[in-house]
Amino acid sequence: MTFREDWLVQWERLIMTKKAIAVLTSGGDSPGMNAAARAVVRTAIFEGVRVFGIYNGYKGMLKDDIVELTTRSVSDIIQRGGTFLGTARSAEFETPEGRQKAYANLQKHGIEGLVIIGGDGSLRGGAKLSKETGISIVGLPGTIDNDVWGTDYTIGCDTAANTIVDSINKLRDTASAHRRIMVVEVMGHKSGWLAMMAGIAGGAEYVLVPEVKFNLNRLCEEIEEDYSHGKRYSLIVVAEGAGSALEIGKYIEEKTGIDTRVSVLGHVQRGGSPTVEDRMKASLLGEKAALAIISGESNVVFGYNQGRPVSINLFDAVDNTKTLNPELVRLARVLA
Ligand code: ATP
Repeated sequence: MTFREDWLVQWERLIMTKKAIAVLTSGGDSPGMNAAARAVVRTAIFEGVRVFGIYNGYKGMLKDDIVELTTRSVSDIIQRGGTFLGTARSAEFETPEGRQKAYANLQKHGIEGLVIIGGDGSLRGGAKLSKETGISIVGLPGTIDNDVWGTDYTIGCDTAANTIVDSINKLRDTASAHRRIMVVEVMGHKSGWLAMMAGIAGGAEYVLVPEVKFNLNRLCEEIEEDYSHGKRYSLIVVAEGAGSALEIGKYIEEKTGIDTRVSVLGHVQRGGSPTVEDRMKASLLGEKAALAIISGESNVVFGYNQGRPVSINLFDAVDNTKTLNPELVRLARVLA
């Protein structure tokens, strides 16, 4: 590179470099969002860039709930579930007028780039904001659902799956003692990823997910057959989008005559201290997001592909739908 070329590259970097950025968490909370936001804040400060926290997602952006953060603002949070920034859903942000109003608040603080940590809906909102205003957007996939296209990993899914497996282990003890069938309902309206991961890791006999058709009568026949050969219990994990666990449990009990209990795990799945995997991966993604936005990159989402960090085009991420890995569906059947 000649001196002139080098000088041009340095100059370009200088004018692209952002002087103030912001971070927000949006949609459903997920364990590890804190680790990601902490990494964004500390990386920005390390790079000499001002960093603002937008409280309560897009709702807070609309209300100008925006505060400059320091290194200390993110102390003592890496081990906590939830998100210190708070999260919310906002119907107003879904309108173009709402997004212009929210953008005006960013401009007021001199914010030139935004890191959005959230699920596919939050990223979709960010993509629209970027298109309409030109502000730099970098997304991080923060959702326990693991349903963001282009990445194998989303922040929080590992912790949620571990929480479910912990419950499954306990339910298995009591199911075995009473020779019961145990139906466990887990989160996942449209996506069966979480159920599938927890079901396989928890050794469930059946994992019912919205993406795969199932035959309850056949399932009942198989359970009866297994019990006739001495099986002491059966564990069925149901993603909420696959049907009501209460109704499924009732049907199975009526059909098989075997004592059946249903456990709806609910919001316990969202909380809790993030696993090492979620803390590490979220920290690394947070650093990447901050560095990218500071150096003038925009419209990317950082995630993982086969264990390696990758950047995905934001519009591709929101325009495509992640499908459940058929390998996992097969594995769950084989290992049942
Ligand atoms: P989770 O996966 O945990 O549900 P999410 O990010 O998908 O998280 P959503 O409720 O879908 O959660 O989205 C969060 C917020 O993002 C919405 O309340 C809304 O303000 C904004 N948003 C979602 N979809 C859009 C859209 N199509 N256009 C503009 N904004 C959107």
